[in-house]
Amino acid sequence: MALMGLHTAYGLSRIINARGPYTPLGVSRSGDDVSAAVAESLSEFFVMDELQEAADRALARFTGAEAGTVVHCTASAITLAVAAAMTGESPDRVEALPDTTGMPGAVVLPTGHAVNYGHSIVQAVRLAGAVPVAVGTEAGFTLEDVETGLARPDVACLLLVSSRLVRGASAELADAVAVAHRRGVPVVVDGAAQDFRVGELLATGADLVAISGQKYLGSPTAGLVVGRAGPVAAVRAQERGIGRAMKASKEAVIGVLAALEARQELDMAVWRQQQADKVADFVERAGAVEGVTASSVPDPTGLPFARARLVVDPAVSAMDSAALDEALRAGSPSIWAIPGRRDAEGLLFELVPLTPDEIDAILARLAELLVR
Ligand SMILES: *Cc1c(COP(=O)(O)O)cnc(C)c1O
Repeated sequence: MALMGLHTAYGLSRIINARGPYTPLGVSRSGDDVSAAVAESLSEFFVMDELQEAADRALARFTGAEAGTVVHCTASAITLAVAAAMTGESPDRVEALPDTTGMPGAVVLPTGHAVNYGHSIVQAVRLAGAVPVAVGTEAGFTLEDVETGLARPDVACLLLVSSRLVRGASAELADAVAVAHRRGVPVVVDGAAQDFRVGELLATGADLVAISGQKYLGSPTAGLVVGRAGPVAAVRAQERGIGRAMKASKEAVIGVLAALEARQELDMAVWRQQQADKVADFVERAGAVEGVTASSVPDPTGLPFARARLVVDPAVSAMDSAALDEALRAGSPSIWAIPGRRDAEGLLFELVPLTPDEIDAILARLAELLVR
């Protein structure tokens, strides 16, 4: 089976993932060191508490936070961080959830931060037994909106999503954190795909930051929760409560440890340059295809790489960008790009995990579909 490959063995579609760390496509590729460590872990026993303690030390070293722990994924990290804000380390409270009787049960979050990453983050909040309280509008929120939301007696925490904080109308993350802290309310930040920015997110003063291990970090599926020691201990306390259904496996924790080491050994300046060169080369080659306008688009949240944007002129190519997207996905291998939005037309290609062969295959398909 190893020789014939998993796709052949199980009759699975071959795909080229230019969509980024997208859960329905298997998210990311792990490096060789991570794969080897995970494979080795699968045939070993461990004291799971020791694994979590090793992860705690590694996450603290990696992020500069006081403490860290690993849970199943970031969706569970959000649920468990909310639970931690309601229960602290009280065993009775941990056992009682999702019944929140006698606990602060309201979670304030900006309306525009109610992201949907496969389900709504609001459901991740409700799963702990908490009640979401939205403030502000889809377009943004002010510090007064946050103040108003926090002005009730049963607030458990403020929840913010870092990827929503693109340059725009919203209050700054750090200012919102400060408003909550003035009221003694802890702050949880969903930083799922933003492991490159975890230091920046912690510097806002947030009490807990949740990061996906399996996105750019390239571990198996894992949620990393880092922050102050007390709140992290309260997340770990959920292992004997609702967190049982959201636990990290041994292979996930080992994979996270290996992925953190790999990241620490990575020369970021060299890596950034490689990504920039890859995008520049793709933009030049795609832009040479008749009817295609190609450009490099920096990540709006400040991640250290750009994406390639292709806009197709339907007058020249007999298809527009949306039709191209469909045609790319219909082929074999199926090519998945990021579809354009109303405010940003065209197709975006994220090249970070792709091999030169895959990039050549995308360019060949573009020429095949567009050149008449
Ligand atoms: C991916 C993502 C999640 C969910 O992360 P998982 O680790 O897949 O559970 C949550 N929030 C945001 C903003 C995401 O991008």
